[in-house]
Amino acid sequence: MSELTYPYEAPASQALFDRAAAVTPGGVNSPVRAFRAVGGTPRFMVSGTGPYLTDADGREYVDLVCSWGPMILGHSHPEVIAAVQDAVSRGTSFGTPGEGEVALAEEMTARVAPLEQVRLVSSGTEATMSAIRLARGFTQRTKVIKFAGCYHGHVDSLLAAAGSGVATFALPDTPGVTGAQAGDTIVLPYNDLDAVREAFRAHPGEVACVITEASPGNMGVVPPAEGFNQGLKDLCSENGALYVSDEVMTGFRTSRAGWFGVDGVVPDLMTFGKVMGGGFPAAAFGGRADVMAHLAPAGPVYQAGTLSGNPVATAAGLAQLRLLDDAAYAKIDAVSKEIQGLVTEALTKEGVAHRLQTASNMFSVFFTDRPVRNYEDAKTQESFRFTAFFHSLLGAGVYLPPSSFESWFVSTAHDERAVQRIADALPAAARAAAEATA
Ligand code: PLP
Repeated sequence: MSELTYPYEAPASQALFDRAAAVTPGGVNSPVRAFRAVGGTPRFMVSGTGPYLTDADGREYVDLVCSWGPMILGHSHPEVIAAVQDAVSRGTSFGTPGEGEVALAEEMTARVAPLEQVRLVSSGTEATMSAIRLARGFTQRTKVIKFAGCYHGHVDSLLAAAGSGVATFALPDTPGVTGAQAGDTIVLPYNDLDAVREAFRAHPGEVACVITEASPGNMGVVPPAEGFNQGLKDLCSENGALYVSDEVMTGFRTSRAGWFGVDGVVPDLMTFGKVMGGGFPAAAFGGRADVMAHLAPAGPVYQAGTLSGNPVATAAGLAQLRLLDDAAYAKIDAVSKEIQGLVTEALTKEGVAHRLQTASNMFSVFFTDRPVRNYEDAKTQESFRFTAFFHSLLGAGVYLPPSSFESWFVSTAHDERAVQRIADALPAAARAAAEATA
């Protein structure tokens, strides 16, 4: 990687990054933004319009990150901005109930049948943390099954490394998480129902819930094998555990009802974030009314938040969701397919071994010739090829996630001009990937 030459300097971004590093650990407020996986200068963005972002050096990029999912209508959508301006003009936070949060909850429950009740929070992490607490409080059990490669935010008990074998308890993945916090987490290989069956057998009456990304995007895109989610649901039902589907990434993105709208498997609890906040910090968890009835103040499981249901965030989320009709999803799916086709064509032409994996309109490229069914498979990819591919595209004004373990995202705003920029940039990027060395 040291031999890689970055196509463009970014002096204004570099100056900001240097300033940031003095006052913020690593210069960023979320690690992946620091470009550590690909090297080079993280771009400090100053504005976004439609499918484009503009950085501090005045360079424009077609955005294939979309703020890691939320910007499904593109940046600065006029109707979302108008809703936000209207809400802001009436005040920014009241610390009381408000109609906006009711309307957002009504819109969400109307779209997603298993979502009988929701509680709004401010981040996906809060949503999964609270769902797990509720599952434990409801079942009066302690253990949680999660899958290697699935990310559910930085919840202590879910930051657990992949253990091999069914009865292996997870070791903490990071200093600061104690053995006790991770010790009730059982980490299993994704797409392996036998491992889940065995875990239930080994821990009868102890498992509160299985939490899974509805269709994982945090190890790159690795969709559930046919019948996997239904199998999880059935095993949970048979063993008195709750099936928690994390739709923070897929929710209201992979269809108007998220991944539930794709596979129809009915979770006991679900978590949401990203799209439902319209670019603001709004997230949620919800599901079966009898389970949600255990949440304070209706029940004994405590959960709260100063800014939960914030009026500006809920106005943005509601405006965004109301614009996401069938035509919008048809458009996103079509542009996603078009870009997928261009990527495959360019890499194939250069003879680069790759797997393009999709989950509805989410997709990512693994530089490997083997199907990727779980995290172990994902780790076999030749990430050095991604690094070269990434920097070639960045230099040509196409902004990809700065890691090969992330989904790419598109929006309704990705039009012909944006797609043409990608098409023009891909041949050189594919060549760079082909020529890259470890
Ligand atoms: N769950 C999933 C599936 C996610 O993709 C993420 C974030 O990427 C989270 C939870 C955590 O959400 P947040 O970053 O809003 O805390």
